[in-house]
Amino acid sequence: MLTGDQYKESLRDGRKTFFEGKTVDDLPGHPLLGKTVETTAAGYDRFFDPAPDATSPLMTVPSSADDLREMIPLLHEAGMMAHVTYTSIQTLKTAAGRMDDVKPGYIERMNAFIEEAQVGDIRITQCITDAKGDRSQPPAKQNDLDSYVRVVDRQRDGVVIRGAKLHITGASFGHELLTIPTKAMKAGEEDWSIGCAVPVNAEGVRIINTTYAPRHEDIRSFPVSGEHHYPEGFVIFDDVFVPYERVFLDGETAFAAVFAHSLGLWERLGGLSAFVEEADQLVGLAQLVAEANGTAGISHVKEKISEMIIHATLIRATLEAAIDNCSIGPEGAAFPNELYTNAGKFHAAANYNHIVRHLHDIAGGAVLTTP
Ligand SMILES: Cc1cc2nc3c(=O)[nH]c(=O)nc-3n(C[C@H](O)[C@H](O)[C@H](O)COP(=O)(O)OP(=O)(O)OC[C@H]3O[C@@H](n4cnc5c(N)ncnc54)[C@H](O)[C@@H]3O)c2cc1C
Repeated sequence: MLTGDQYKESLRDGRKTFFEGKTVDDLPGHPLLGKTVETTAAGYDRFFDPAPDATSPLMTVPSSADDLREMIPLLHEAGMMAHVTYTSIQTLKTAAGRMDDVKPGYIERMNAFIEEAQVGDIRITQCITDAKGDRSQPPAKQNDLDSYVRVVDRQRDGVVIRGAKLHITGASFGHELLTIPTKAMKAGEEDWSIGCAVPVNAEGVRIINTTYAPRHEDIRSFPVSGEHHYPEGFVIFDDVFVPYERVFLDGETAFAAVFAHSLGLWERLGGLSAFVEEADQLVGLAQLVAEANGTAGISHVKEKISEMIIHATLIRATLEAAIDNCSIGPEGAAFPNELYTNAGKFHAAANYNHIVRHLHDIAGGAVLTTP
């Protein structure tokens, strides 16, 4: 396993990454981006085990409902880079379980990549969203054929890919880019049906970063974003060679959507579990503020807090149902129930603003102006 310091050192691998018009030669030492490196390094140290054959618990493939349940608090604690890595690994495992009709070689390559990632204790980011260009046109009818990442050359030992993926969380801070189609593909879209793993420092990869980190000398007024920010990367693939061992799909259009659908399941589980944790905090905050202001006994305040409690309880119930009703894939990996996961995530997100509005209403103006 890697320590935080070893992780920092691993980023000095010749990667081409840019911020606000300048090349970033020293990610750990960068005044803004370096903070993300520090947070990620702290996550490494938190779970470090010096045993030579140890692997990170964050890279484990769950095989039961209990495993799934135990991972949730670990992932919340471990931060975004661990979350996207875990989700990438589970995406490949889920996709492998749904791809038994295609070349068996793909599944072996995915399993080999997962094992390599576990042994190397690396971080993997999810490179899915294509530039997409004119949304009313499919990939092959775009004015710019690179609007979706595609294969531009097939060689004896690998493929060459070209295009760009947008908004990729933490792209510059991981080691591998799990590069998969953003949508279903049709006949004629074989070149855009490409799934593969690309090292961040591969020749031809360039990443342009943006961040919502506060540009302010005193970050005390930014208690969340001042401490935790994960820049998004605009990832350019400028004719990048990918050896076949790292290619998980090449041209089988019928399976292009399997990866994005598999990823969606795990992203929604992550989103739902975060909403569940936050909903309890919002209820607690509302109750504390009401008690502090002497409004806890007033009927409309009690009604609002009751509604918040019902919301928190219902979404927790969907999370529990998603885990309890998990299914076990052909290779022994556990997957949360899709229907409960999707319904819970949808409901949590759709009602979030309503719940926060109750908290604002109960808290009054001080919630905005407290120094
Ligand atoms: C903070 C942040 C972090 C992100 N992190 C990641 C990441 O780590 N990895 C990653 O891969 N992506 C990431 N994304 C990208 C995110 O998944 C996309 O923004 C999202 O999928 C929407 O795609 P889009 O931005 O291209 O919008 P669009 O797809 O253009 O959608 C905009 C609107 O147009 C509609 N629309 C578009 N095309 C059609 C069509 N053909 N028919 C009907 N309606 C259509 C949509 O329904 C929607 O209403 C991130 C985004 C953000 C904001």
